[in-house]
Amino acid sequence: MKKTVRDVDVQGRRVLVRVDFNVPLSEDGKVADDTRIKAALPTIRYLVDHGARVILASHLGRPKGKPEERYSLAPVAERLGELLDAKVRQAGDCIGPEVASAVDKLGAGEVLLLENVRFHAEEKENKESFARQLASLADLYVNDAFGTAHRAHASTAGVAAFLPAVAGFLMEKELAMLGKLLADPQRPFTAIVGGAKISDKIGVLQSLMQKADVLMIGGAMANTFLAAQGHDLSRSLVEQDKLDLARQLMAQSEKARAELLLPVDLVAAPDKDAPGERETVGLDQVPEGWMAFDIGGRTLDLYEERIKTSKTIFWNGPMGMFEVPGFDSGTLGVAQAVAESGATSVIGGGDTVAAVKKAGVAEKITHISTGGGAALKFVEGKELPGVAALQDR
Ligand code: ADP
Ligand code: MG
Repeated sequence: MKKTVRDVDVQGRRVLVRVDFNVPLSEDGKVADDTRIKAALPTIRYLVDHGARVILASHLGRPKGKPEERYSLAPVAERLGELLDAKVRQAGDCIGPEVASAVDKLGAGEVLLLENVRFHAEEKENKESFARQLASLADLYVNDAFGTAHRAHASTAGVAAFLPAVAGFLMEKELAMLGKLLADPQRPFTAIVGGAKISDKIGVLQSLMQKADVLMIGGAMANTFLAAQGHDLSRSLVEQDKLDLARQLMAQSEKARAELLLPVDLVAAPDKDAPGERETVGLDQVPEGWMAFDIGGRTLDLYEERIKTSKTIFWNGPMGMFEVPGFDSGTLGVAQAVAESGATSVIGGGDTVAAVKKAGVAEKITHISTGGGAALKFVEGKELPGVAALQDR
């Protein structure tokens, strides 16, 4: 268990909070989706209410280590101010004398948002001198940015070498939900993994094989497993160089705890632009030149049956190309089944979260992780640098 903001005295102290404000912006430079800002509000409000001098740090987008107007956090300051119903001060940078003087002027319960930490190349390089400069602004460090906790950057990990470091409430919740999944899940525990590539998720599959009771596979990832079994999927997305790996994973699963479930039918079409011509076919019946874009109805039935009787569910990766209407039935069906299962459900991954929202069932999911890559690393059983850097209780 990591220490949290509850375990330390924050009154009147300068508190540097690493948040994940890496939000999508609209064409006119406004915050297009404020989910991540809202997710950080409990920690920010707690600090404000307890008289901390709150200094917020985040990255936004992928600037190349120097200032770029379009990656400024200014739109975030505006939206955060609306959500807090309070003034959010803005700094023109995240380190340096001007920032230090802005912090000096910051009163108890006031909030200052630093400019994008990735405007400095030293952030991603985790340069000690840069981490030290960031740390010099504050008396205490709080990490609430679960979404970047798998990166060892200056503001997510390096800075903790120079300040007492504790978790924020979002970080605490993510660690608790994902931790329980691996350490003490109510059974049966069903893991659903899909998406584009096996190669992205080898460690996740290996870990879930040992932890879960059922591991069901969908999406393009399933194609590679099916091809490795010798099925001819014609032009379907298959990782030809990962067939051996897929065979190894299937062999491992023989001895592992989880039963491995693969699709028994597929939705195929001549091309992704031709969902109207789709047909549900058996594993060896993908027509010449066609591609599989979704799991078929019989597979969905089988998966739904198992989801229904689960007590714990982890899901990462869509069952098909759900962005295209016509290829979304498997993914939306699984989303619906997970929502109606009554199980403790944990979902991670940018596209999977989007799919659950598209299905309109986000409210019925126990925990939607704010960190795609971080959640997968955690499920793999890997230590996250941003978490390792925090003090134990
Ligand atoms: P997440 O972001 O949830 O981790 P991924 O990024 O691994 O998920 O995978 C999502 C992507 O996989 C989507 O863009 C989806 O269109 C694609 N995909 C899933 N199944 C297929 C398929 N059968 N053929 C082509 N693309 C697919
Ligand atoms: Mg994705």
